[in-house]
Amino acid sequence: MFDPCMLKRIATISCVLVGLSLWLFQAPKAVHASIRIEGEWLGDTQGQQFGPVTEYRLSPEKLKKSYVSYLTRGPFSVVLDVYLFGVFYLILWRRWSVSCRDWIEESFETRFVQGLVLIPVACFLVWLLLAPIGYLEQCFAAWAGSGSFDPIGFSLGWMVMFLFAAPLSLVSLWILYWFIRRSQRRWWFYLWLIFIPINALEIYASPLIIEPLISRSLPLAERHADFASQLEDVALKGGLQIPPSRMYEMIALKKQGGPYGYATGLGSTRRIVIMDTSFRLLSNSQLLAVAAHELGHYALHHRIKQFLFSTLLSLLTIYLGYRLANWLLRRWGERWEIRGLDDWAAMPLLCFVFCFFWFVTMPISNTYSRYLEHEADRYALKIMAETAPNSGQIVAQAFQVLGEDGLDYPFPNKFVVFWTMDHPPTGDRVRFALLYNPAGAH
Ligand SMILES: [Zn+2]
Repeated sequence: MFDPCMLKRIATISCVLVGLSLWLFQAPKAVHASIRIEGEWLGDTQGQQFGPVTEYRLSPEKLKKSYVSYLTRGPFSVVLDVYLFGVFYLILWRRWSVSCRDWIEESFETRFVQGLVLIPVACFLVWLLLAPIGYLEQCFAAWAGSGSFDPIGFSLGWMVMFLFAAPLSLVSLWILYWFIRRSQRRWWFYLWLIFIPINALEIYASPLIIEPLISRSLPLAERHADFASQLEDVALKGGLQIPPSRMYEMIALKKQGGPYGYATGLGSTRRIVIMDTSFRLLSNSQLLAVAAHELGHYALHHRIKQFLFSTLLSLLTIYLGYRLANWLLRRWGERWEIRGLDDWAAMPLLCFVFCFFWFVTMPISNTYSRYLEHEADRYALKIMAETAPNSGQIVAQAFQVLGEDGLDYPFPNKFVVFWTMDHPPTGDRVRFALLYNPAGAH
């Protein structure tokens, strides 16, 4: 069944993947080094009464948990993406998409019905092939001690995710195929044009439609009138006028972990949101530091900047996707029995191409996001310096408390940060807060 050349190729790819995994997943040195300082540990900070923060640190127990959480969010997500490419390749190589196309074309006459049936079926097949790696991730987390593995809960969660993913895939693949059939040469441009209003609408309507579906938000002044007016004063000191009608409190679904606040919306829906968990975890001045960071996003127009950035990046991604899809089709189309990009059998190839470019441009969008987060931190430190003499320490304490609650791992691999993280590591943020000079040295 396998020729020696294929076996050699599989062996080489496996060696590269194992090497990459060993490099990405290594961190025991840092974990053990930190565990050795157990004797010096001064206690968790969530009582809000603790000494000056000099660096971001976790108790040995939380450090172990944070390591597991870091592995599942960082290196495992990279492995999952690489595995996804493997799944698309497997479908093309075994010609499963060709069998599906032949079956659907024989069974139904109109393309509309063919797409309506085939896309959810294809989506289910991919979902099924992705399940083993999700299963492995959960087993690993349970084995490493961050909870017990519940196979029934995992299967139900996986099915619920599929029920969300299937309609989204149906709509987006339908739009993609429709454009490809309209114009073989310009479909990438039309696809990009339609992406712009959808993206803008998503940002504009998110606080009105999407967020209320997930959790409940209240005007900030409703339960925290004093804090809302304090925040208004802090914003004024930074030269920003933000009315209380643009400040909200969100009831968090999770008891632990972020987000602790965010800036959202566009134009008339622009606002800052503080999660109710932040009120539980932080002292008043630490809470002001977190809110000042969100004010930074608001004052520096980060949402609109992110919108413009993602619009430009999507143009590049979609155009490169178009070029790569055509190249793959010319090179292997005959072997994979694909008639053209508008063929249903080309679906895994198109999915592979767009997932691939989404994956390779992740460091670009994450680097830009980390830059914006850093600018919001700088803004927070600047306006906090107007209100408190030890503002750097207050901001560092807020990061320490939230880092502990969210189990942020203190020693992430630089490559994992570069590729997967949209916020700077907590340790870097604490260091920046402590070194920040309000006189303008930074
Ligand atoms: Zn932020």
